Amino acid sequence: MRLESPAMNFVVYLGDVITANNLPIHNASLYWEQAISPTRARNIPWASLFGNHDDAPFEWPIDWFSSSGVPQILCPYANTSRGDKCSFKGTTRLELMRDEIRHNSLSYTGFGPQNLWPSVSNYVLTVVSHDNKLPAMFMYFLDSGGGSYPEVISTIQSQWFHNVSQEMNPDSSIPEIVFWHIPSKAYKKVAARQTRCVGSMFDEPVATQEAEMGMMKLLKKRPSVKAIFVGHNHGLDWCCPYKKMWLCYARHTGYGGYGTWARGARILEVTDEPFSLKSWIRMENGSLHSEVVLSK
Ligand SMILES: [Zn+2]
Repeated sequence: MRLESPAMNFVVYLGDVITANNLPIHNASLYWEQAISPTRARNIPWASLFGNHDDAPFEWPIDWFSSSGVPQILCPYANTSRGDKCSFKGTTRLELMRDEIRHNSLSYTGFGPQNLWPSVSNYVLTVVSHDNKLPAMFMYFLDSGGGSYPEVISTIQSQWFHNVSQEMNPDSSIPEIVFWHIPSKAYKKVAARQTRCVGSMFDEPVATQEAEMGMMKLLKKRPSVKAIFVGHNHGLDWCCPYKKMWLCYARHTGYGGYGTWARGARILEVTDEPFSLKSWIRMENGSLHSEVVLSK
């Protein structure tokens, strides 16, 4: 993606950054590094969270069992042949995140509390006002699972969100936006209604989390929550209103993953005093579409 214009202040990687089920190497962090390198090269800070493909177990292609046989193992390490460093083994969420944080001072990604594991990437970032440096918006990041564990936001994650949001923003006076990877079931409902929706809605069906464990109930109760942003369905890039917030998809952005949709990214424009949140999709060729005001 072209990140130069207009100037980007921050990038969010919304999961499925790599497709580990297709990566026959020991250390998938090498591919993760490659995926985030355009942002790092432009000195733009970023945050990431996990999708279902990032630590998915390697899937043996059926044609490897045909007469052509198993191809030579792809080994990214110089001077290493077969062995532990070069085997068909996935890289765990914790390893991927540890490597990102350790090697990148521009990364704002957080592990999250250990009692939420195996889900990681549960954390909050505070956007402060340019003028008075007071909190202007909170950005919550959650791990919606998949890959090495079920596709859910668990009860304990919901409880964590409740505690943190009550502590940081007890009267809901500061706007909040939320990021995770796999849509909650409310996405299916609003997609069926198609009321006031903006963006591509019919390129594939909505694939939701396996169960609801309280997160959406909490979000609905908070007037400060303006929008939720998910990835997962690479062919969808819509935003639809739901209760007092918006439910939005990002878009097929990277060079991996399933699907051949044109690449683009969801852009968010936030202003302070008065607060406003505007969004649109910018395609790789620079064209813009699906502008929507999410809060004003
Ligand atoms: Zn996904």
